[in-house]
Amino acid sequence: MIEMTNVYKKYPNGITAINGLDVKIDQGEFVYVVGPSGAGKSTFIKMIYREEVPTQGNVKVGEFDLVKLKAKKVPYLRRHVGVVYQDFKLLPRLTVSENVAYAMQVVGKNPKAIQKRVLEVLDLVGLKHKVRMFPNELSGGEQQRVAIARAIANMPRVLIADEPTGNLDPETAWGIMDLLEEINNHGTTIIMATHNSDIVNRVRHRVLAVENGRIARDQEGGEYGYEG
Ligand code: ADP
Ligand code: ADP
Repeated sequence: MIEMTNVYKKYPNGITAINGLDVKIDQGEFVYVVGPSGAGKSTFIKMIYREEVPTQGNVKVGEFDLVKLKAKKVPYLRRHVGVVYQDFKLLPRLTVSENVAYAMQVVGKNPKAIQKRVLEVLDLVGLKHKVRMFPNELSGGEQQRVAIARAIANMPRVLIADEPTGNLDPETAWGIMDLLEEINNHGTTIIMATHNSDIVNRVRHRVLAVENGRIARDQEGGEYGYEG
């Protein structure tokens, strides 16, 4: 359902971050994206939710052609592709439930449906008792759970996670990993860029290693493969 063909991304500063990349990812897969710093992992991932557009080649996500997709149609894509970041990116002045509700308001869901779904996803991530708290009153792991709840509120087919455990201690990281596994078990495709070799080596999934802007290794049930 995600397909990149002969993709290049050259930034305005002249750096070629993605250099002839091909990949196919099926619905329901769990895929790790690994590789050295500067290899192009973030750029690769950003092209899946159209934060970046390739300078050459094709990117398809479901029925969306991301190269042709007009800027004003990007919100339609984002209903199908949820994103979670290393630094959570929660809105600091909104409560936990408001942060999650906001993601649904922007796509025009009705207030009743929003109220119901907010409690449902916050229950799923184990934070139903903290709905009225503000992000700065939560631990890092809890903030990441809110971010995940927000990302899945609209029931996306794909969840992108860019270093989701990067700011968390190992135990908290495992809790987030369990949650991503559970979401994947419900049929959501998960694409997770990570430097967490313990997780990659212990919870085996397909590994895409990005090096010099290409897929250098594509391994089913693969290992992390780098030092650290
Ligand atoms: P990004 O891939 O998003 O550019 P960085 O490569 O800057 O992120 O790395 C994010 C964090 O992961 C940094 O603290 C960095 O020191 C650490 N890191 C980078 N490479 C590895 C590695 N191979 N193993 C473990 N940690 C790593
Ligand atoms: P990774 O996530 O593997 O660390 P990135 O995709 O972040 O790799 O970066 C790949 C290359 O593209 C690096 O050389 C980086 O400096 C460059 N790069 C990333 N983002 C930008 C940008 N917005 N503008 C210019 N160069 C960028």
